[in-house]
Amino acid sequence: MTTALPLTSSAAPPVSPDSSLQAINGATDDIPTLTFYHHPLSPFARKVWMTAIEHDLTKYITPKKIVVAPVVTPKAFPGWSEHNDLLGKFNPIAKIPTLVVNEGQGGEEYAVYDSKIICDFLVDFAGRLAGGNTDNSVDVRKDAMYWKKQSLHRCADQMMDSEILVAYEERMREAEGIKWDQWIVGMRKKIERGSGVLRDAARGGLLPARRSADSGLPRTLGGEEIAVACCLWFLDVRGISWQKDGEDEPLQDWKDEQADQEEAQQSPILSAETSELKRDSWMEAPPSADIQYVQKKRAESPPKAATLGMSLDLKIHEKELNHHLKDLKNDQVQEELEALPSNHEVNYTIGDAGSHWRMTTLKAVYRKAEETGQKIEDVALERYTSLREFDDAREEEIELDRRKTYGKDYVGKEKPSGELYQERKLDAGVHRHKEEDLDDEFDNVLDNVKAPAPVAAPTPKLDSTALNKLKAQLMKARLKKDPNLTQLEAEYNAALAASTTTDPTIIQLSAMDNRMLSSAPRNEVKPVTNRRGLERGTVVDNEDMTIDDMVREERRTANSANAGRNMAERIAKDGKFTNDLDYMDENANKLAQRVQKSSSTIRNIAINDYQKLNRVLESCALCYHEDHPTDPSPIAPVVSLATLTYLTLPTEPSLSPYAALIVPVQHRTNLLECDDDEWTEIRNFQKSLTRMYHDQGRAVIFYENAARPNRHPHAAMVAVPLPYELGSTAPAFFQEAFLSTEGEWSQHKKIIDTLAKSKSGGFGKTAFRKSIAKEMPYFHVWFEIDGGLGHVVEDEGRWPRGDLFAREIIGAGMLGLGVEVWKKQGRWEKGANSREKVEGFRKRWRKFDWTRVLVEGGA
Ligand SMILES: [Zn+2]
Repeated sequence: MTTALPLTSSAAPPVSPDSSLQAINGATDDIPTLTFYHHPLSPFARKVWMTAIEHDLTKYITPKKIVVAPVVTPKAFPGWSEHNDLLGKFNPIAKIPTLVVNEGQGGEEYAVYDSKIICDFLVDFAGRLAGGNTDNSVDVRKDAMYWKKQSLHRCADQMMDSEILVAYEERMREAEGIKWDQWIVGMRKKIERGSGVLRDAARGGLLPARRSADSGLPRTLGGEEIAVACCLWFLDVRGISWQKDGEDEPLQDWKDEQADQEEAQQSPILSAETSELKRDSWMEAPPSADIQYVQKKRAESPPKAATLGMSLDLKIHEKELNHHLKDLKNDQVQEELEALPSNHEVNYTIGDAGSHWRMTTLKAVYRKAEETGQKIEDVALERYTSLREFDDAREEEIELDRRKTYGKDYVGKEKPSGELYQERKLDAGVHRHKEEDLDDEFDNVLDNVKAPAPVAAPTPKLDSTALNKLKAQLMKARLKKDPNLTQLEAEYNAALAASTTTDPTIIQLSAMDNRMLSSAPRNEVKPVTNRRGLERGTVVDNEDMTIDDMVREERRTANSANAGRNMAERIAKDGKFTNDLDYMDENANKLAQRVQKSSSTIRNIAINDYQKLNRVLESCALCYHEDHPTDPSPIAPVVSLATLTYLTLPTEPSLSPYAALIVPVQHRTNLLECDDDEWTEIRNFQKSLTRMYHDQGRAVIFYENAARPNRHPHAAMVAVPLPYELGSTAPAFFQEAFLSTEGEWSQHKKIIDTLAKSKSGGFGKTAFRKSIAKEMPYFHVWFEIDGGLGHVVEDEGRWPRGDLFAREIIGAGMLGLGVEVWKKQGRWEKGANSREKVEGFRKRWRKFDWTRVLVEGGA
């Protein structure tokens, strides 16, 4: 790094003029003014600034923080694109970073943009200041190494760019209802490939050690190295893994060496910790479940329905199984095959509301088997209680495919017949007892004889609203044991099949296949809480692990199949590998490192959880932020404030006019965490709201979605007013939905009837609070103030995202709203709930507002 600069300026450099410069040299007008348009969370701006730091140029640069976005949406994202025009004057693309160079004294002003070009410019500028003798590390010999470095630089750039596009897609476009999952998948694929290139670079010497081997002094980083460092930083911020092999990987080593990031961290330009940056938190807090969702989704097999051809046979599904059947030697499996009759009654019908979940599970089994190379039966038994259940699911899959292929005229079966399981038994050489055989066969015939579905009129293509109406009709019929039930069912199924084949945009429950994020609290490591530790997410082993923690860790890490695969990968990478025992002995350590990797990954996950909680609290839309200088009130509008709780309005689009949320002021993860005083207030709000809605001629249900405690949401009870006639059918809708969720293997009772408990169980108003443990993920709906129905969520990952579970049942099922309404889940933004809406609510509410007694004393 240059210590003394031979050039200087009589015109003071723009920022922190260095007096020593002027002392050395009085001639000067050739140092231009540099204005740097940037944003602290832009990795590209970071790259430029780190280059400036590296070459000691920051004193020549005036930084200007601005906010630009590719889409101008002042309404949804106020302020996000406020500097587009300003920047557009210099850089038509209106992207940061942009460097505006003013040569001064009659010289011209021009913009330099694209961070790569700015970095080159700065290196050149440093050379200019040094009188042409720059010690910059860009290798100017344009040999192969030069071009490789240039390409590496662009690679890191493009990776950052791709992830920024993903961030927009996930937030802005999602809010507009135009999120394109495939886009995200595509972008993430680039990043994945790019990560491989970066790892190769580290391995191949393109990213050498920070300290020179000769002198032991730190080198000046090359542009491509800075780009890679920023790229890794940004991927970490976004929670994207760029490692494959864990901490022993050269890229990880190289990154750890970049302690100079520390200097960057402390630079006010790059510090993302100032309070004014709150609204930018979206950049830092990717919904990790979404990422999983997308990445996992990508691994799914491509849609195949269209290519099934017209054959009715089972060949595609068989291909996934039969070659495995031959190796069925596991005794347990054999025993089970003998024990379970293939004929049995399942408590669902093919294609019903739970079908999507069942198919998602099934696909997950196929996928895992494919990915891990495990036998599909072994994977299936992790998921299902028996292979029969698994085979039932396969039957349903085939049936659904047929319905899709043959559309309206197809008459199929309603429930799995057990035929695949029977086939499996035969293949495995299990023969049923003769008499039972006959009886079963007879039953089988009876069960499957169905009045042919009314073939008659071709099923018209229904839109989602009509379809939902039909579904609602069907559910009511089921409830009343309507004699026309079968016909209705057939009608509905036909309509569903027709609409599925013809309109790919109506995908029932498609957002629900978000799964995989497991999540019991993890205690095997604890974070290092000093500043550096926090920044780097360092953790140490937790010596105080409880036995439970240890068991959990064991369960997660002791996956022998994985370890084997890891070893296989490691060997595949090792060119010197020879398959003999000597090699194995010599390299035992190396091979063993894979096992360590998995535990280090777990550590990263644990620390992510911890950091996530902090971010959640900081950016919570329902919390008061006492440290805010001017306006501590929550982002969500407070329409009525009691002492420990308040009333706010739901995000748009709301399911029903005058819907409201009862929220504890304290950030509680669920309402069961609330104490007696909070509950008194919650119930007061419930009562007052009920009166208000009754006054409007409407019924009301309240629900709490506490299905994802690990996301640390701010608890709330949502009040949804409904037309009177729907009030009485609400329990049936929820009952049905609970019954059909989460597949058939659930351990908990699916429905907890808190209303019955409050009435006849002697629990009274405490029924809800005494029926569910607050540690459980759950969903609860109140039909009356004292109770309703609850459901313990066993697999958070399989639960519909956000509030979609309630929104689908109430919005689509009960109210018949279009998918564009119920499927869209807005967010609270300051000022986004228009004044009018808040005032309109308050006007109606005033008469029923119990909190007036708090201020007006009595009444
Ligand atoms: Zn909160």
